[in-house]
Amino acid sequence: MNPCKVLALQDVTWKCNWKCKHCYFRRFDKSWDSGDTPLEVLKKEIDSGKARGCDEVALCGKGEPTLHSQVNQIIEYATKVGMKSLIITNGSVGIETYQKLYDLGLGYLQISMHGLGKTLDKIAEREGAGQRQMKLLEWLNKENHPFRINITLQQLNYQELIDIVEKAVQLGAFHVSLLNFLPHYQWNLYLKEVAVNPVELVDMLEESMEYMEGKVIFTLRYFPMCLLRPNFWKYVTNAQFVLFDPWEWDYGQYSKDIEKVWESAVGLSETVRIKGEPCDPCLLKDHCGGWNKVYAQAFNFEGLKTIKEVPNELEEAVIQRGGLFDLNPANNEKGGKNAIQHIR
Ligand code: SF4
Repeated sequence: MNPCKVLALQDVTWKCNWKCKHCYFRRFDKSWDSGDTPLEVLKKEIDSGKARGCDEVALCGKGEPTLHSQVNQIIEYATKVGMKSLIITNGSVGIETYQKLYDLGLGYLQISMHGLGKTLDKIAEREGAGQRQMKLLEWLNKENHPFRINITLQQLNYQELIDIVEKAVQLGAFHVSLLNFLPHYQWNLYLKEVAVNPVELVDMLEESMEYMEGKVIFTLRYFPMCLLRPNFWKYVTNAQFVLFDPWEWDYGQYSKDIEKVWESAVGLSETVRIKGEPCDPCLLKDHCGGWNKVYAQAFNFEGLKTIKEVPNELEEAVIQRGGLFDLNPANNEKGGKNAIQHIR
């Protein structure tokens, strides 16, 4: 495993045309008025990411990055300084905007495909959101533009997960991120308004992962490994490996010194994980990192169990740091990002 080299612009703009049920920033009322971050500030962030060794820039939030009044110039600048680029987007701002961004050197879009049709309308609290996003996805497919997708798992979509995943694969997404909903910011008080008991997610997750195996590379972010069958453990990336996840960003921590990044990663995990039973004595603790303590408490630790033995074929991986993580084709040199030829 290698440290993630993606720099995130986490404050591109606060403007957004959706109001997602699971949005981490939903309750930050005042900040929604603050609008765009000035282009010069974003350029400096790109410069400092490049200086520390990042080679890709992700336009993330807090709102919808393509609504920044100078989004073209941000992508133009990233291209000019030799950084690859991606934009996490709801896909609703119109095809001309996206075409222009690809023309300016955008590497790919990451579409927040939380549902199909009316399900997406409900999650985004916008009539027609699903239809509009599908129009973009079909266009991306027709034009052969590279894109990947993320799905935030939640009460409104988890029973349709397999349909969303199948559609994404049919349309040509090159990577799928399944994101379980974590209690960041004020969400620890409201987690159960959105999150699903992990025990109830297992069947849909395993069915979806089974479907994707061999068809597309994918990652399951934030899930207790012990709830899954052993052949699915390798797809899980929890807090302890997030700084090594090529499909996430570096949180300002990228360094060529792997030990330094590992220390930060463990520190990150320590702040959120369960302490004591069932995680501390678990054979998977150094891979799973331990499940999120707030999430675990909200659902009374249901289903969690200390893993005391692993199948023979995983024994070697389990004794190596990152051994399971490296088994996921999405994370390794051969099958992961470097294998996606058409990313610029
Ligand atoms: S017991 Fe804890 S460390 Fe072990 S797999 Fe379950 S959540 Fe992860």
